[in-house]
Amino acid sequence: MLNIALFGPPGAGKGTQSESLIREYNLFYISTGDLLREEQARNTALGLATKDICAAGGLVSDEIIVQIIESTIKENPHAQGFLFDGFPRTYIQAYILEGLMIKLNTSLTALINLKVPEELSASRLLARGQVSGRSDDNETVIRRRLSEYNKKTLPVLDFYREKGLLREVDATAPVEEVHDRITDIIQKELSKKLFNVVLFGYPGSGRGSQGRILAQRYGLEFVATEPMLEQEMQAGTPLGDRIRELSAGGQPIPDEIVVPLIERRLENSGNAKGFVFKDFPRTLVQSYILDGLLKKHGSSISMVLEIEVPTLELISRLDERSQTDRCMPYDNSTSMIVKRLKEHETKIAPVIQKYNQLHGVTKIDGTGTIEEVRVRVAEEIETGLRSMR
Ligand code: AMP
Repeated sequence: MLNIALFGPPGAGKGTQSESLIREYNLFYISTGDLLREEQARNTALGLATKDICAAGGLVSDEIIVQIIESTIKENPHAQGFLFDGFPRTYIQAYILEGLMIKLNTSLTALINLKVPEELSASRLLARGQVSGRSDDNETVIRRRLSEYNKKTLPVLDFYREKGLLREVDATAPVEEVHDRITDIIQKELSKKLFNVVLFGYPGSGRGSQGRILAQRYGLEFVATEPMLEQEMQAGTPLGDRIRELSAGGQPIPDEIVVPLIERRLENSGNAKGFVFKDFPRTLVQSYILDGLLKKHGSSISMVLEIEVPTLELISRLDERSQTDRCMPYDNSTSMIVKRLKEHETKIAPVIQKYNQLHGVTKIDGTGTIEEVRVRVAEEIETGLRSMR
């Protein structure tokens, strides 16, 4: 989710810039000033309680602001991302925004400060006053608004500077130029966002091949448990020896071993633009672990895909594989193949169900050639990448 807060003194151009940004990035627009003016025009209790404060250029209480923001967000549960204009305006509101983002399981991408000198703000507001009909666009109130900004709002910048979320733009330039500077910042932030795909499918469905192709095509890291365990064994580390012992005894590899390996992989992922997970998560517990691991990287699952292949086709594919050097220890007899497919069904079904509720699982027809399936997978990925923008 892309969440941006536009910051700056009254007259910096926040409203003007917002108009194009919300269209370009499909953001839900929340301007506390507009929301308050609507309440005031409708003479609601909230409108009446705030009218005089706004007319005098003061700041409305944080309690009222949290109410209007929260109810606006609740009324729009399908928003793809938010653009905040005129919020947060106090240190307390910065904490409120953090809480709201956590509740939505997301975070603020950046706070963009539109910098203009005070005299330019004042003259822009005076000029706007000639046409806007806003009673607070007059000399006396403008001075009060700017003084409130300097006293109570400017310190908010420290909050975001410390978090590394503050981006600054010289907003004295013409509208189009400021717009380009803002979109440069947003594009940079978007390119930092990880695109994470969880790939499901029965053994024999082609997850491995498709996952590798997908990872290579989009600059993602392919994370599959089996090759990682294999690598560890080959490296001859004490952990590798332990894995070998367990596998030889036919025992499952516990999460205590798998999870740190995955964690290490995520940490050493260099410039990867995201991850493709295969065979992890395999259980509900692992699905929670994955959420936690991604969160540590400020990220989350972007897309869940399930490659579907009819059971008979799976059996014949696995049987064919058993005749080749790609034969896995568990697919050299039909009864073992069937047992593995059944096991997969009972274990994975609840995980897919969970993801279906949380993110929606995109099903992909896995029949046909690798190339045919690749095209179908790519189509879905392109859609996913677009909706992330
Ligand atoms: P604006 O349209 O953003 O210039 O806001 C107009 C007026 O609404 C301000 O001068 C304040 O009185 C009030 N207001 C808007 N947003 C806030 C906020 N986040 N906190 C407190 N007061 C606000």
